[in-house]
Amino acid sequence: MEVSSNENHEYWMRLAIEEAHKAQSIGEVPIGAIIVRNGEIVGRGYNLRETTHDATAHAEMIAIREASERIGAWRLLDCTLYVTLEPCPMCAGAIVQGRVPLVVYGTPDPKAGCAGTLMNLLQEPRFNHRTELIEGVLREECGSLLSDFFRELRLRLKERKALLKASEAGLTAQQAEHIEQAEAEDVDIALSELDQFPPK
Ligand SMILES: [Zn+2]
Repeated sequence: MEVSSNENHEYWMRLAIEEAHKAQSIGEVPIGAIIVRNGEIVGRGYNLRETTHDATAHAEMIAIREASERIGAWRLLDCTLYVTLEPCPMCAGAIVQGRVPLVVYGTPDPKAGCAGTLMNLLQEPRFNHRTELIEGVLREECGSLLSDFFRELRLRLKERKALLKASEAGLTAQQAEHIEQAEAEDVDIALSELDQFPPK
Protein backbone atom coordinates (compact mmCIF):
# COMPACT_ATOMS: atom_id res chain seq x y z
CA MET A 1 0.00 0.00 0.00
CA GLU A 2 1.26 3.44 -0.90
CA VAL A 3 1.75 5.67 2.12
CA SER A 4 1.60 9.43 1.88
CA SER A 5 4.96 11.22 1.90
CA ASN A 6 4.21 12.74 5.29
CA GLU A 7 3.70 9.28 6.79
CA ASN A 8 6.97 8.28 5.18
CA HIS A 9 8.72 11.18 6.85
CA GLU A 10 7.27 10.14 10.20
CA TYR A 11 8.37 6.56 9.60
CA TRP A 12 11.98 7.59 8.98
CA MET A 13 11.97 10.16 11.79
CA ARG A 14 11.02 7.37 14.20
CA LEU A 15 14.21 5.60 13.16
CA ALA A 16 16.18 8.82 13.80
CA ILE A 17 14.55 8.92 17.24
CA GLU A 18 15.79 5.35 17.81
CA GLU A 19 19.30 6.64 17.16
CA ALA A 20 18.71 9.43 19.69
CA HIS A 21 17.74 6.80 22.27
CA LYS A 22 21.12 5.12 21.74
CA ALA A 23 22.80 8.42 22.68
CA GLN A 24 20.58 8.76 25.73
CA SER A 25 21.41 5.23 26.91
CA ILE A 26 25.07 6.22 27.29
CA GLY A 27 24.39 9.59 28.90
CA GLU A 28 24.79 11.68 25.75
CA VAL A 29 22.35 14.45 24.80
CA PRO A 30 19.72 12.50 22.82
CA ILE A 31 20.02 13.57 19.19
CA GLY A 32 19.82 11.08 16.31
CA ALA A 33 20.05 11.16 12.52
CA ILE A 34 19.63 8.81 9.59
CA ILE A 35 20.23 9.21 5.86
CA VAL A 36 17.86 7.50 3.44
CA ARG A 37 18.44 6.83 -0.25
CA ASN A 38 15.93 5.04 -2.48
CA GLY A 39 14.05 3.73 0.55
CA GLU A 40 17.16 2.37 2.21
CA ILE A 41 19.15 3.63 5.19
CA VAL A 42 22.69 4.44 4.07
CA GLY A 43 23.87 6.32 7.16
CA ARG A 44 23.08 6.48 10.86
CA GLY A 45 24.45 8.53 13.69
CA TYR A 46 23.82 9.68 17.22
CA ASN A 47 25.46 12.32 19.32
CA LEU A 48 28.80 11.09 20.74
CA ARG A 49 30.34 14.38 21.83
CA GLU A 50 31.07 13.42 25.44
CA THR A 51 32.11 9.82 24.72
CA THR A 52 34.58 10.77 22.00
CA HIS A 53 35.66 14.16 23.43
CA ASP A 54 34.99 15.46 19.95
CA ALA A 55 33.04 18.64 19.28
CA THR A 56 32.36 17.41 15.73
CA ALA A 57 30.78 14.10 16.79
CA HIS A 58 27.23 15.28 16.11
CA ALA A 59 24.62 12.81 14.86
CA GLU A 60 24.47 14.34 11.37
CA MET A 61 28.27 14.37 10.90
CA ILE A 62 28.51 10.69 11.82
CA ALA A 63 25.61 9.79 9.52
CA ILE A 64 27.09 11.85 6.64
CA ARG A 65 30.48 10.10 6.98
CA GLU A 66 28.83 6.69 7.00
CA ALA A 67 26.63 7.48 3.99
CA SER A 68 29.55 8.86 1.98
CA GLU A 69 31.58 5.76 2.69
CA ARG A 70 28.68 3.48 1.80
CA ILE A 71 27.87 5.30 -1.44
CA GLY A 72 31.51 5.86 -2.31
CA ALA A 73 31.00 9.55 -3.03
CA TRP A 74 31.05 12.82 -1.11
CA ARG A 75 28.00 14.03 -3.06
CA LEU A 76 24.99 12.61 -1.26
CA LEU A 77 22.69 12.80 -4.29
CA ASP A 78 19.16 11.40 -3.91
CA CYS A 79 19.60 11.34 -0.13
CA THR A 80 17.31 12.63 2.59
CA LEU A 81 18.77 13.41 6.00
CA TYR A 82 16.42 13.00 8.97
CA VAL A 83 17.52 14.51 12.27
CA THR A 84 15.63 14.93 15.53
CA LEU A 85 17.02 18.44 16.24
CA GLU A 86 17.50 21.33 13.84
CA PRO A 87 21.10 21.27 12.49
CA CYS A 88 23.78 23.52 14.03
CA PRO A 89 26.07 25.69 11.82
CA MET A 90 28.67 22.91 11.51
CA CYS A 91 26.17 20.25 10.44
CA ALA A 92 24.29 22.64 8.15
CA GLY A 93 27.68 23.39 6.55
CA ALA A 94 28.41 19.69 6.09
CA ILE A 95 24.92 19.17 4.61
CA VAL A 96 25.55 21.92 2.04
CA GLN A 97 29.05 20.58 1.29
CA GLY A 98 27.60 17.10 0.79
CA ARG A 99 24.92 18.49 -1.57
CA VAL A 100 22.17 16.78 0.42
CA PRO A 101 18.95 17.57 -1.49
CA LEU A 102 16.47 17.27 1.42
CA VAL A 103 16.67 17.68 5.19
CA VAL A 104 13.80 16.77 7.52
CA TYR A 105 14.13 17.81 11.15
CA GLY A 106 12.01 17.33 14.26
CA THR A 107 12.32 20.17 16.74
CA PRO A 108 13.89 23.62 16.34
CA ASP A 109 17.04 24.58 18.26
CA PRO A 110 16.68 28.09 19.69
CA LYS A 111 20.40 28.35 20.58
CA ALA A 112 22.14 26.85 17.55
CA GLY A 113 19.59 26.14 14.82
CA CYS A 114 20.92 27.11 11.40
CA ALA A 115 18.08 25.74 9.30
CA GLY A 116 15.84 28.74 9.80
CA THR A 117 15.82 29.55 13.52
CA LEU A 118 18.96 31.69 13.98
CA MET A 119 19.86 31.72 10.31
CA ASN A 120 19.26 29.48 7.34
CA LEU A 121 22.51 28.10 6.00
CA LEU A 122 20.65 25.37 4.12
CA GLN A 123 18.92 27.87 1.86
CA GLU A 124 21.42 30.71 1.59
CA PRO A 125 21.05 32.05 -1.96
CA ARG A 126 24.74 33.02 -2.17
CA PHE A 127 25.89 29.41 -1.65
CA ASN A 128 26.27 27.10 -4.64
CA HIS A 129 23.86 24.54 -3.16
CA ARG A 130 20.51 24.86 -1.48
CA THR A 131 18.71 22.12 0.44
CA GLU A 132 14.98 21.53 0.56
CA LEU A 133 13.72 21.64 4.12
CA ILE A 134 10.83 20.07 6.01
CA GLU A 135 10.56 20.97 9.68
CA GLY A 136 8.48 19.85 12.63
CA VAL A 137 8.10 16.15 11.78
CA LEU A 138 7.31 14.40 15.13
CA ARG A 139 8.29 17.66 16.77
CA GLU A 140 6.69 16.75 20.12
CA GLU A 141 8.54 13.45 20.45
CA CYS A 142 11.85 14.92 19.36
CA GLY A 143 11.49 17.87 21.75
CA SER A 144 10.37 15.75 24.73
CA LEU A 145 13.42 13.55 24.35
CA LEU A 146 15.57 16.61 25.01
CA SER A 147 13.48 18.32 27.68
CA ASP A 148 13.09 15.02 29.62
CA PHE A 149 16.83 14.40 29.38
CA PHE A 150 17.70 17.84 30.73
CA ARG A 151 15.06 17.70 33.45
CA GLU A 152 16.61 14.44 34.73
CA LEU A 153 20.08 15.92 34.48
CA ARG A 154 19.01 18.91 36.57
CA LEU A 155 17.56 16.61 39.22
CA ARG A 156 20.73 14.50 39.32
CA LEU A 157 22.90 17.59 39.69
CA LYS A 158 20.75 18.87 42.52
CA GLU A 159 20.91 15.51 44.31
CA ARG A 160 24.66 15.34 43.94
CA LYS A 161 25.08 18.87 45.22
CA ALA A 162 22.99 18.04 48.28
CA LEU A 163 24.95 14.82 48.83
CA LEU A 164 28.24 16.65 48.55
CA LYS A 165 27.16 19.24 51.08
CA ALA A 166 25.97 16.58 53.51
CA SER A 167 29.17 14.57 53.31
CA GLU A 168 31.63 17.44 53.22
CA ALA A 169 32.16 17.36 56.97
CA GLY A 170 33.32 13.74 56.90
CA LEU A 171 35.80 14.09 54.03
CA THR A 172 39.47 14.93 54.00
CA ALA A 173 40.28 18.25 52.35
CA GLN A 174 41.78 16.38 49.37
CA GLN A 175 38.70 14.17 48.86
CA ALA A 176 36.40 17.16 49.08
CA GLU A 177 38.48 19.08 46.56
CA HIS A 178 38.52 16.14 44.17
CA ILE A 179 34.77 15.73 44.26
CA GLU A 180 34.20 19.45 44.00
CA GLN A 181 36.36 19.63 40.89
CA ALA A 182 34.54 16.76 39.17
CA GLU A 183 31.27 18.36 40.19
CA ALA A 184 32.28 21.75 38.80
CA GLU A 185 33.18 20.24 35.41
CA ASP A 186 29.87 18.41 35.20
CA VAL A 187 27.95 21.47 36.26
CA ASP A 188 29.76 23.55 33.65
CA ILE A 189 28.89 21.12 30.87
CA ALA A 190 25.35 20.76 32.08
CA LEU A 191 24.69 24.45 32.54
CA SER A 192 25.74 25.27 29.01
CA GLU A 193 23.05 22.88 27.79
CA LEU A 194 20.43 23.46 30.44
CA ASP A 195 19.43 26.98 29.53
CA GLN A 196 18.96 25.70 26.01
CA PHE A 197 15.97 23.51 26.82
CA PRO A 198 13.98 24.79 29.76
CA PRO A 199 11.64 22.11 31.14
CA LYS A 200 8.06 22.25 29.96
ZN1 LIG B 1 25.55 19.76 14.58
